Amino acid sequence: MTQILGNTVVQSILVQAATNDSLPHSLLFSGIEGIGKKLCALHLARTMLCTVGNACGSCSSCVQIDHATHPDVITIEPNEKGTIPIGSDQQEGSIRWLIGRVSLSSVHSKRVIIINDAHCMNIQSQNALLKTIEEPPAHTYIILISSERNQLLPTIHSRVTEYVFHPLSDSNLESILEKSGIDRQKFSSIIPVAGGSASYALTLANDELFAQLKEAYDAISSFVSQPEVFNYELSPLIQEIGIYRTIDLLINIFRLHFSSTDNIVPWLNSTLDHTRAIEIIKILLELRKGISHNINIRMALKGMLYSLCFTK
Ligand SMILES: [Zn+2]
Repeated sequence: MTQILGNTVVQSILVQAATNDSLPHSLLFSGIEGIGKKLCALHLARTMLCTVGNACGSCSSCVQIDHATHPDVITIEPNEKGTIPIGSDQQEGSIRWLIGRVSLSSVHSKRVIIINDAHCMNIQSQNALLKTIEEPPAHTYIILISSERNQLLPTIHSRVTEYVFHPLSDSNLESILEKSGIDRQKFSSIIPVAGGSASYALTLANDELFAQLKEAYDAISSFVSQPEVFNYELSPLIQEIGIYRTIDLLINIFRLHFSSTDNIVPWLNSTLDHTRAIEIIKILLELRKGISHNINIRMALKGMLYSLCFTK
C-alpha cells in the first residue's frame, strides 16, 4: 500500500467513513494543486472495492484501479483544451457520457466516479451534473477534485460535502523530491517557492523553467523599482507550465520578500520594498481571478503595472 504524504487527518476521516459505509455520496476535495487530492480519491476507491478489504494494493481490484481499468472506477479529466465538455452520450469523457454511465448499474458492489479538475467543467456541464450529484444511484460515490473551488457553481457546492486539503510540509516535499531523484542541493531553492505543492516543486526542479520564472520575477520587480518600459513576454512560460502555475509561482516568489528565509534567497531584488511587493502580489491575484474570463494576461499585467507605477 502506498503512503500518501500530508493531510493525514482528512485522509483518516475519509478512510474511516469509507470503511464504515458512512461516506457521503457526493464529495468535493479542494485545495491547491499537487497535494494528493487525486491520490486520496483513488485510495478511497481501493478501500471500497478491495477484495481483501484494506486497499491491499495487490488484489485484482486494487491492481485494476492502479491500471485505470477497473469497470467501477471512472475517472474524468479535462481534455487537451483544458475543459470537461458537456458532450453527448457517445463522447467518452464528457459529462453526458458520464451521466449515461452512472445510470447503468454497477458491475460490483460499489462504484466510484472521480472528476479531476472539476472546475474545468463549464457552467453548462456543471448544471447538467447537478441532478446526478444530488441523488446519485445507490452505491455510487462521486468525488469532485478542484484546486479552483470558487469556479464551481454555488448549486454544486450546496450538493457536495467538501473536504479541504492543505499544502504539504517542507519535509513531505523533501521526501517527494528525493523519491523523484532530484538532486538534494536544489531542495533549498525549490521548497521555499513551491508553496507546499508537490507538482509545483517538481516544476521548479526543472532548471530551465525555474530560470524562466526568475526572469519573469526580475522583469516585474525591476520594472516596479525603476519603471521605464515593460516588455517582458510571459507567454512562453505560460505555454510550458500553464497560466495558474505561472501566476501562483510568481506570487510565491514575491511572498519570499516577507518570509524569514529572505537571507537564503540571494536572487531576490533587494531594491523592491515591502509595499511594492504587496502591490505586485495584489496585481497577480487580480489577474488570477480574471483567468476564467479569458483575459489577455500579458496585456493585463502590463496595464496594471503601468497604472501602479505611473498614475500615483
Ligand atoms: Zn486490494
